[in-house]
Amino acid sequence: MSQYSHPTPTSFFLDEEKRTLYLSWSDEHESMHDWELLRWACPCAWCAGEGGQPGVLASKKTLTPEETTLVNIEPVGRYGLTPIWEDGHKTGIYTYEKLRAMCECEVCKKKRPVKR
Ligand SMILES: [Zn+2]
Ligand SMILES: [Zn+2]
Repeated sequence: MSQYSHPTPTSFFLDEEKRTLYLSWSDEHESMHDWELLRWACPCAWCAGEGGQPGVLASKKTLTPEETTLVNIEPVGRYGLTPIWEDGHKTGIYTYEKLRAMCECEVCKKKRPVKR
């Protein structure tokens, strides 16, 4: 038994047509993540900034197709995943909590207040 009880991803699927990442979870949830939204949410210091400094995403209005094309996913320890993007970027660690909080499936969207 682990003291860390957050659901963990068990498999993933990259839908190139819909440009969406699907993750299956240990609690049987299937989460959906639009590639572009995922890239905009990159939490790394380069993209999101660090120590009060804005990251590069703060000054961008658009991203290139390479920047928003997901080619693979790698596990990080037991708490997160790193997406590998076509432009070579792979420093963003998305924790399981963050991914679940970003899930765009109908069930999760309804539970969340609508932003934008
Ligand atoms: Zn990044
Ligand atoms: Zn969901």
